[in-house]
Amino acid sequence: MAEWPIEGLDVAGLMAEGWRPTPFHEFILKVHQRCNLACSYCYVYTHADQTWRDRPAVMPDEIFAAFTDRLARHVRTHDLRKVRVVLHGGEPMLLGAARLGGLADRLRAAVPDGCELRVGMQTNGVLLREAALRELHRHGITVAVSVDGVEADHDRYRVTHAGRPTYTAVTRALELLARPEFRGTWGGLLCTVAADTDPVECYRSLRAFDPPAIDFLLPHANWGTPPERPGGSATPHGDWLVAAFDAWWDDSDRVPVRFFESALDLALGGPSRSEQVGLSPAALVVVDSDGAIEQIDALKSAYPGACETGLNVTRDDFDAALTHPGVVARQIGVAALGPDCAACPIHRICGGGHYAHRYRPGTGFRNPSVYCEDMRRLVGHVQRRIAAETRTLVETVSR
Ligand code: SF4
Repeated sequence: MAEWPIEGLDVAGLMAEGWRPTPFHEFILKVHQRCNLACSYCYVYTHADQTWRDRPAVMPDEIFAAFTDRLARHVRTHDLRKVRVVLHGGEPMLLGAARLGGLADRLRAAVPDGCELRVGMQTNGVLLREAALRELHRHGITVAVSVDGVEADHDRYRVTHAGRPTYTAVTRALELLARPEFRGTWGGLLCTVAADTDPVECYRSLRAFDPPAIDFLLPHANWGTPPERPGGSATPHGDWLVAAFDAWWDDSDRVPVRFFESALDLALGGPSRSEQVGLSPAALVVVDSDGAIEQIDALKSAYPGACETGLNVTRDDFDAALTHPGVVARQIGVAALGPDCAACPIHRICGGGHYAHRYRPGTGFRNPSVYCEDMRRLVGHVQRRIAAETRTLVETVSR
């Protein structure tokens, strides 16, 4: 089902005016399409798009080979000095650490000299054992693990197909990753926000694992499928983020939290490193297990086929995707925003929120985020805290 991502976007006109796409720097590779867990909020299996059912469970070798060729060509065409490939799923560990290591080696062999390739993996952590970590470490694959706060909260959502909890298995993996020999292999933690949980307890429980980084992700939702809003607040997700932000900001030994750091950087006039805030060009593309070149897979939460570009690594270069309207819309900043966001005083910080959260059936993506009020709450709070810190600093210096 096709629903044009941004109505009337004139890519040729933009090019004629001198706009040029930002080459892709990050490639999400769906090496395994299935998962050993059945998390209740998962956008791959439980949201509108169900195309996973028709794709190969494991990326065939010829698709992977076609990907490495296209990747190398993209690097050469744009003289890229640094690219990142994330081995993703489903659950990539279903492929086994040895095969993942083999893929990382082939990627390194394919990428031209002069370009630094980073290979990462996003995993639910359940299958990470010591032997697997040694293998991943040997092949230079960094590992980011999804964990949703304290045990009771995590186990509410992140369960096996039989409904069994997974926190114990995940924490065993995190304890391994914290050991000195694996420390360099650990990419960080990814936590999906549940607005009815305690944000301070959540932050502190994640911090207690001593990860190199944490990120928080709002659950994917849109105007057709709004998020649950527990409690009496109109902005439960904003309230949650504000409390977590304060716990992080006031932590004397804080670790990087990408969402919060990006909000801070943006409030101070800098760029964003997060898909969830700001207007920095998105330089990320997804390749599914059948070779399909797709937009961010969070769009699966919008409508069936929302990620599609019609391109495939067996036929097409990544440059072809750079002029797809859905990709362009995430690279042209304020020009892609709808009128409400364009007129909003904090649009350069908020950026209209995550692209997937702007979708409204019938009108597409030129809408404020379904988390608009939550974003206002967070951004306003970040601005106030910066102002307060600045005042304190000025008073201290002038004493
Ligand atoms: S989503 Fe809301 S807060 Fe964000 S830029 Fe748009 S109108 Fe402003």
